[in-house]
Amino acid sequence: MRKLTLSDGQTLEVACLSCALTSGLVEPAGGVIVETEHFHAHQDVAYPIKGLVILASKRHIRCLDELTEEESLEYISLLTRIRRAQRKVLGIEKVYYFYNEDTTHHFHTWMVPRYDWMEKFGRSVESVRPVLLHARNNRNDEKHKKDVLEGIRALTEELNFKINIKRGR
Ligand SMILES: [Zn+2]
Repeated sequence: MRKLTLSDGQTLEVACLSCALTSGLVEPAGGVIVETEHFHAHQDVAYPIKGLVILASKRHIRCLDELTEEESLEYISLLTRIRRAQRKVLGIEKVYYFYNEDTTHHFHTWMVPRYDWMEKFGRSVESVRPVLLHARNNRNDEKHKKDVLEGIRALTEELNFKINIKRGR
């Protein structure tokens, strides 16, 4: 079990944070960015990086090869849509993708936008953890948090607008 402290100060014990988020038991700060039948996208605002998205499966699985055919198609399609939205509404040029199968959560992919300030932490995989820690420890101020929430809002609007258009056809 993992003990969580919610934004309202309430504490909660959950077996899997991803299950708690994708089932709606825990509302992510900033809200759900986009949700489909099998996937759920949100941001972890503890790491204030504008446009960062965590894409999690709704099913409690750990490994990519556990996805059904239908889930895997939805995954790649949604990942691509989120990436397009990051470029279109936030002007994000490069994204780092990260996911590991030996996680305490379940299947979830981090989409970490690459910004100029990250260069000092190096490139590629070795820079990911220092970048996230730097954001958590040094960018947790009102200005950056506001910027991050604005990014969530823009992505949410873009991604859900497209769904609505499709449904309207
Ligand atoms: Zn889970």
